[in-house]
Amino acid sequence: MTVGAGAAAFAMPGALWAALSGLNDDEIERRVQELLAQMTLHEKIEQMSGWLFRDFWQALGPKGKRYTGYTPANRRLGIPALKCVDGPRGVGLFYKTTCFPVGVARGASWDRGLEERVGQVMGYEAAALGMNMLLAPCINVVRHPSWGRAQESYGEDPCHLGRMGGGHVIGTQQHVMACAKHYAVNHLDQSRMFVNMIVDERTLREIYLPHFQACVAEGVASIMSAYNDVNGLLCGHNPHLLRDILKGEWGFQGFVVSDWINAVEDTTAAANAGLDVEMPRPEYFGRKLERAVKKGRVAMEVINEAAGRVIRQKLRFAGEAKCDPARIAGPEHAALAREACAKGIVLLKNQGRVLPLDPARLKTLAVIGEFADQKNIGDVGSSMVTPPYVITPLAGTKERLGSAVTVIHAEGKDLEAARQAAAQADVAVVVVGLSSRDEGEGNDREDLNLPAEQEKLIQTVAQANPQCVVVLEGGGAITMQAWIDQVPAVLMAWYPGMEGGRGIADVLFGDVNPSGKLPVVFPQSLDQLFPFDNQAKTVECGYYHGYRYFDKQGLEPAFPFGFGLSYTTYQYSNLRLDQKTIGKSGKLTMQVDVTNTGERAGEEVVQLYVGYHGSKVDRSVKELKGFGRVALQPGETKTVTLELLARDLAYYDVDKKAWVVEEIEYLVSVGPSSRAEDLQLHETFRIAGA
Ligand code: BGC
Repeated sequence: MTVGAGAAAFAMPGALWAALSGLNDDEIERRVQELLAQMTLHEKIEQMSGWLFRDFWQALGPKGKRYTGYTPANRRLGIPALKCVDGPRGVGLFYKTTCFPVGVARGASWDRGLEERVGQVMGYEAAALGMNMLLAPCINVVRHPSWGRAQESYGEDPCHLGRMGGGHVIGTQQHVMACAKHYAVNHLDQSRMFVNMIVDERTLREIYLPHFQACVAEGVASIMSAYNDVNGLLCGHNPHLLRDILKGEWGFQGFVVSDWINAVEDTTAAANAGLDVEMPRPEYFGRKLERAVKKGRVAMEVINEAAGRVIRQKLRFAGEAKCDPARIAGPEHAALAREACAKGIVLLKNQGRVLPLDPARLKTLAVIGEFADQKNIGDVGSSMVTPPYVITPLAGTKERLGSAVTVIHAEGKDLEAARQAAAQADVAVVVVGLSSRDEGEGNDREDLNLPAEQEKLIQTVAQANPQCVVVLEGGGAITMQAWIDQVPAVLMAWYPGMEGGRGIADVLFGDVNPSGKLPVVFPQSLDQLFPFDNQAKTVECGYYHGYRYFDKQGLEPAFPFGFGLSYTTYQYSNLRLDQKTIGKSGKLTMQVDVTNTGERAGEEVVQLYVGYHGSKVDRSVKELKGFGRVALQPGETKTVTLELLARDLAYYDVDKKAWVVEEIEYLVSVGPSSRAEDLQLHETFRIAGA
């Protein structure tokens, strides 16, 4: 099997993506120009201005249809409306749609093909509801686990974010436009409307932007500008981000929409900087933009360009949706939600092989805790999904076990009742974690521990029954110092979606062998991290965060980036590179043998990291540059092939304003996680010559 290389730092400008409308690129381009030639200024600006709203989450379109955002059709000229609906956990808010596990859970699957299928289902459901744009994927870097919206993104690493986000775009755009958000450097919620993110050009290019470029390379139709400022300029007013980089260097062919609540503050600044659509209402575009054009403050070319971009994508995605509303949240889509849940679950600890549980050896199972029988599917902000049902862990467990095993349940508020339930059972499963009370849009976390009463519950249950399995729900890193040594097994299940109870049961009982790996580092405690001030007006975003920060500082996390156990074991051997020296535009192919040395079939996520020897600039100790999954039967060995492009190893030279591929030695490490002991296979190669 071959898996691709890392972040597309130099990907070619967005190849025009095959049109749903059946028109080819030349036909679309001709049509855009013909339409612009016939349109009045008012009609062009209409295409650039969110419209028909009641409030920002209640956009009412024709026939009372509810959209997250809407720009009108032009009936005279046959231009369709833009009809947006929120993601990225499913089709948002108003409809009974499939609720998938949150983005970070899908990120933990490290399975781009799965994310493509998830995107395809979301696109299908959006189209079946009459929408033509999904406001997803969210691909912001999780810089600090306190970020309230960490759950919406795939994780902390630009290579991983680009691969997963790109997969989502490809899937979604089988049916509707995708919108990658929030561009850029958006990773703090409480002060997101006014915070100024200070970031040097190299950090911006290498850490905060490559994944957006990866989505552009996959032909994403739209990009959403973030609420925050970057280096003193609001993202939607930022010509460096929008014109120089996105539309200039990357050749983005789509359009930029603003984020929703007051993300535009000035008509002229936004239009001239390259913001194409103001959402959700024409506060600064609409009439004000018409006046600005008439007074000469915004040139007609700017309007033609912006309206042209919107129309181009509308034409590309025009046409009758052949998506059947009866399939929304139906059995096929539910099965995918279940698969995504199980594949994203990370087995963090399994001392004495407590897991998987063998139903044949159980008489009584206790399922305890606040979230054992509560639907806990994540934030209730813009990413909220209202599924037709939610299978709780208790319901999923009971369904799996049938009547052969007695399942007892205690909510856990009453510690004595929980203790008694645990003591009576062969095994006690404690389902605890975070909820929309603790984190979400506009709601950052102050603490990384579980709520104190949940920690007490785990300790009480573990004392009553040493066969104690903790299942954690939540949107990001949780610190566990107070209790981790007292329990033999821990599963991180994230916010697991509407099929969560079934997906969790699949892993608990070994019907699915866990293969999820952490897409964010889990620190031992908050004080291992740099401060997170969610009231800050200014945040200095340094080059290092996540595993890069832990590596550089020599810190030992609780669970490293890329870490996750399995019910089987794997051995890596025989790493070989096809060349010892490649040119600056070259490609290196490497192979590694992976053997399933245990007794169960499983899937392993193989990770490729690169380090730099003798670089002229300060570099990370290592960086993820590629990954792939391999399925192995017990005893089976397969060769995994990974590819690496020399250009993906470049750094951004601020003085030259260019990417530089250095002629130095590079260290390749391949293994099952970013942890040094896990990365036992190393090879070196050099880049030399063109
Ligand atoms: C969020 C976006 C969302 C939009 C529309 C904003 O507050 O930041 O992610 O798409 O609302 O609901």
